[in-house]
Amino acid sequence: CGIIGCVGHGDDTLDVILDGLETLEYRGYDSAGVALADEAIDVEKKEGRLEMLRELIAGRDVPPAGPVGIGHTRWSTHGPPTDANAHPHTDESGRVAVVHNGIIENYQALRDELEAEGVTFTSDTDTEVIPHLFAAYLDAELDPEAAFRRTLERIEGSYAIAAVVAGDDRIFATRNDSPLVLGVGDGRYYLASDVPAFLEHTRDVVYLDDGEVAIVDSDGWAVTDRDGDRVEKDVSTVTWSA
Ligand code: GLU
Repeated sequence: CGIIGCVGHGDDTLDVILDGLETLEYRGYDSAGVALADEAIDVEKKEGRLEMLRELIAGRDVPPAGPVGIGHTRWSTHGPPTDANAHPHTDESGRVAVVHNGIIENYQALRDELEAEGVTFTSDTDTEVIPHLFAAYLDAELDPEAAFRRTLERIEGSYAIAAVVAGDDRIFATRNDSPLVLGVGDGRYYLASDVPAFLEHTRDVVYLDDGEVAIVDSDGWAVTDRDGDRVEKDVSTVTWSA
C-alpha cells in the first residue's frame, strides 16, 4: 500500500527506506519489505509491523546493503499476509526486485503463460508476474529499460511500481491509477507513494501522471511517456511540513 525508493544515500540507503516506510504507515499495511541492490540484490521482508522487519534485519550478520533501494508496505489484495507474499518480489535468479501497489487485473493469464514456460512462483500475489516478465525480457537480450517498458505493455490494472536490477544503479518506476511522486535532492532522488516519505530529505517534488515512466540514478532523473519520449515535468517546492 506504500512504496519508497531512493538512490544517492550510500551507506544510509537502508535507514532512509525504513524511515520512509514509517511515514507511510498511516496508509495501513499488513507486511513490509526492502530490497537493496548493488552487484546482487538483498531482500528482507516480513509479515506484520515494520518493527518486525527492523528486528529481522537487526538479527542479520550482514544487513541488506547497496546504493539503490526500494521498500514496500503491503495491504493484501491477492494472497494472505505472509512472509512469502510480502514485497519486494523477485524473479527466479534474483536479478530483479519489484514493489507494487494496486492490482494487476490480468495476472492469472500472465502467470499461466509463465508457468507453462517453466517459471516457478513463490507467492500467491498478482505482483509476482512483474519480476518474472521483466527477467524473461532481460533473458531475451533487452536492456533493463527496454525490458521494463516491455513488461509494462503486458500488464493491465492499477499500479505504482518501482523496480531494481542487479548490477544496475537505476530505479525504474511507473504509475497507473495509483499515486507515485518523485523527490529531487542534490545527487539524491526518491520515489514514493506520498511526499512525507522523503520530506526529511527534500522539498522538491515532481508529481507523476498516469502512464509516465520515471528512471532515476544518482546523476539525475528523467520522465518519459510509455513510448520512451521525454516529458517535461515541473519541479514543485512543497511549503508545508509533515
Ligand atoms: N496486489 C498486491 C498484493 O496483494 C499489492 C497490494 C498493495 O497495494 O499493497 O500483494
